Amino acid sequence: MARDETKIRLFVEASLAPGASVALGREQAHYLLTVMRLPPGASVLLFNGRDGEWHALLAEGSRRGAVLICEERTRPQSEPPDLWLLFAPVKKARTVFIAEKAAEMGARRLLPVITRHTNAERVNAARLRANAVEAAEQCGLLSAPDVAEPQRLEAALAEWDGARRLIFCDETMAGGGAFSGVGPGPAAILTGPEGGFAPEEAEMLRALPFSQPVSLGPRILRAETAAVAAMALWQAAAGDWR
Ligand code: SAH
Repeated sequence: MARDETKIRLFVEASLAPGASVALGREQAHYLLTVMRLPPGASVLLFNGRDGEWHALLAEGSRRGAVLICEERTRPQSEPPDLWLLFAPVKKARTVFIAEKAAEMGARRLLPVITRHTNAERVNAARLRANAVEAAEQCGLLSAPDVAEPQRLEAALAEWDGARRLIFCDETMAGGGAFSGVGPGPAAILTGPEGGFAPEEAEMLRALPFSQPVSLGPRILRAETAAVAAMALWQAAAGDWR
C-alpha cells in the first residue's frame, strides 16, 4: 500500500525508531485485525507524543496482540500551542464531547474542575483521556492531551503558575464586548457548568492577577459550546490558526 493511502493512525506508548518493534495490546490488535481486517504487511501510522509520526508495517497478529515494525518517520514531532482547558464537567455525553473537541482544538491538557454549581456525575479521567486519544488519532495530531483527575476549582487555582493566563469565560459579560486582549504565552481557558459560576466565584476569578474575563458574544452558550468556541477564538488570536 502506498504510504499516502495509509489512513489508520494509532497512538502508542512505545518508543518509535527505525526498525523498532511495537507490540499492541488486545484492544488495538482487535481494531486492526478484526475491525479493519488488515493483512500482514499492511501499513499503519504510529505516534506517541514524543518521536513524531512513523510509517509502520503489521508483522504479526493474533487474538492476543499484534506487532508492528517501524519503517520510517513521516513527520517530526511538534508541540501544539501551550493551551489548557479547565472546564466544569457536565453530563457524561457532553463531557466526552468536551474532551474530544479539546483534543481536536489542540489543547495540551484538560483539567476537570468542580465549581459551586457543578452537578456532574463521577468524572472518569482515564476514560476521557481515551476519548481524547481517539480524537487525536483521527485528526492527525502528534500527541494527545493529558487529562488531570478532577479537582476543586480553588485547589487548581491555589497552585497556579502566574505565568499562565487564565482566560475566564464569564457569562455575565455576554454581549458586553468582544473576546479580546488575548496575547502570546501559556494560557488556560476556564468554562463553567450549566448553572454558571456563583457570584462569589466570579468575583474571586476576576480578582486573580493572572485572570482575564472574556465574553463569548451576545448569547449564553451551553457549557460544551462555550469550551469549543473559546478554544477556537484563542487559536485564531494567539495560537496556531493565525
Ligand atoms: N446558567 C448560566 C449560563 C451558564 S453557560 C446563566 O444563565 O447565566 C455555561 C458556561 O459557558 C459559563 O459558565 C461560561 O463559562 C460559558 N459561557 C456561555 N456563554 C458565554 C458568553 N456569552 N460569554 C462568556 N462565557 C460564556
